[in-house]
Amino acid sequence: MIFRQLFDTQSSTYTYLVADSATRQAVLIDPVFEHVRRDAALIEELGLKLVWTLETHVHADHVTGAWLLKRRLDSMIAVCAKGGAQGADRGLEDGENVGFGRRALEVRCTPGHTGGCVTYVLDDQSMAFTGDALLVRGCGRTDFQEGNPRTLFESVRERIFSLPDHCLVYPAHDYRGLTCSSVGEEKMYNPRLAESIGVGDFVGYMTHLGLAHPKQMDAAVPANLRCGRPEREVPADEHQTWAPLSYTFAGIWELQPNWLEENLDLVQIVDVREPDEFTGALGHIPGALLIPLGTLMQEKDKISKDKPVVMVCRSGARSAQATVLLRNAGFQRVANLAGGMLRWRAQRLAVAGGTD
Ligand code: FE
Repeated sequence: MIFRQLFDTQSSTYTYLVADSATRQAVLIDPVFEHVRRDAALIEELGLKLVWTLETHVHADHVTGAWLLKRRLDSMIAVCAKGGAQGADRGLEDGENVGFGRRALEVRCTPGHTGGCVTYVLDDQSMAFTGDALLVRGCGRTDFQEGNPRTLFESVRERIFSLPDHCLVYPAHDYRGLTCSSVGEEKMYNPRLAESIGVGDFVGYMTHLGLAHPKQMDAAVPANLRCGRPEREVPADEHQTWAPLSYTFAGIWELQPNWLEENLDLVQIVDVREPDEFTGALGHIPGALLIPLGTLMQEKDKISKDKPVVMVCRSGARSAQATVLLRNAGFQRVANLAGGMLRWRAQRLAVAGGTD
């Protein structure tokens, strides 16, 4: 099994990547629209095939990345049939399994936060993805989207607390940075839902939370009812279309040496090594401008904003950092040469200076 917990700082949402290590088939639970590029980069770097995106419910605080991921990675969208979302490939019913390779998640309807909430339980009951039904030492609110405290109480007690005590609980959100709990722990210590607490106490607690509605709600709910499909066509990221760039999970836009060699006149090349490296054995790319990383910010005015910039160093590490600095300084079309001069030389591409 491959497992990753990803986070969105805007909405404090957790996205979970779960994959079968033998077949490389993966599911992504509760992806966030703004993080599709990040999530796709991770899936690619781990060598996985995304089979399903899954939602624990129709979210009110962020838009799902399901539709964008389907367009990009050809994944299928599964949602709870009761949630009312349109455009999914599959509407999930209680008790069904969602398979990925040799593994599967069991669908358990756990309404109460919304009418269409589900919990996904891993086939060996070692993990449960509880959405907003059960949070670490808390639970989702019950005051909108068909929320009902009595229903939520029943869902958690009968459908989640019936799992083994060692079953790990992974929630859809946490606002304090808590990442995980277990069924046994929550049965003991959840301040709202622990086994010692009665349904009357819980309903009283939940009806007096006095929370404001989420800021994103008016935009997020309708978008999520379309599985995250934008109302208007989303334009490709215009600043990234000047070359076949790829985005890494580390957050860097990269460019491959072969494209660069064939398009040298379209870009400015900035070499951020030290002067003795620039004139040393590896040589440099013809036409490259030397600005060592340490003085890049002082000398950035030597670089034009009218032409895309490709940053180069020995291995691609310092130049990756240089792309971050330059972007932060307002340059929008910036990419890192993947593998730096080492790969450039290994591929026997043209150099100025240097020795063999
Ligand atoms: Fe929610």
